[in-house]
Amino acid sequence: MMHFLLDGMLGKLTRWLRMMGYEATYLNNYGDRDLLLIAKRDSLTLLTSDQELYRTAVGRGIESFLVEGRTEAERLAALADRYKLNLRIDTTISRCPVCGALLKETPNSQVESLVPPATFKVYQTFWVCSNPDCHKVYWQGSHWKKIEQTLQAARKIIDNKTGARAGKEQTAEPREGHSTRATGSSSDRELP
Ligand SMILES: [Zn+2]
Repeated sequence: MMHFLLDGMLGKLTRWLRMMGYEATYLNNYGDRDLLLIAKRDSLTLLTSDQELYRTAVGRGIESFLVEGRTEAERLAALADRYKLNLRIDTTISRCPVCGALLKETPNSQVESLVPPATFKVYQTFWVCSNPDCHKVYWQGSHWKKIEQTLQAARKIIDNKTGARAGKEQTAEPREGHSTRATGSSSDRELP
């Protein structure tokens, strides 16, 4: 199973990866030297937006990806394309965006004292972080729609790319009868 290591600039991407169920270690305040050592030692995939760090990692045989893109959707699409990530949130495998531990769907009765009364009244489903030191509670609040939109935008970027690639292949081999197009706020704590 792929395990990512993200540098201090990529806190937001870390939260996205965790929500999608991927293991992502986020080391804020660590220097390049330490990041490289840890990635090598633990065989982690190093994600960085620092070209120099990226080049050094590759030079040392560390699996690394240079995170680029103007928008969150572009960054997610590039990463997902490279590592064949599933750009969907499946809450049965989602991890806590804050600490990375698995989330657990939890009956309403057990969260009543943990969430604001107005929230408790509006939402039916809650998830609690399984890490007892974190124990944060999540629900699909008002930002949920935006999260889905971002993931949808990212999937579309990949679909377009895949379509373009398939088109090229078809042009290169015109005798092939058909192309092989791939199928292709603080109160809302689920926000990355
Ligand atoms: Zn947590």
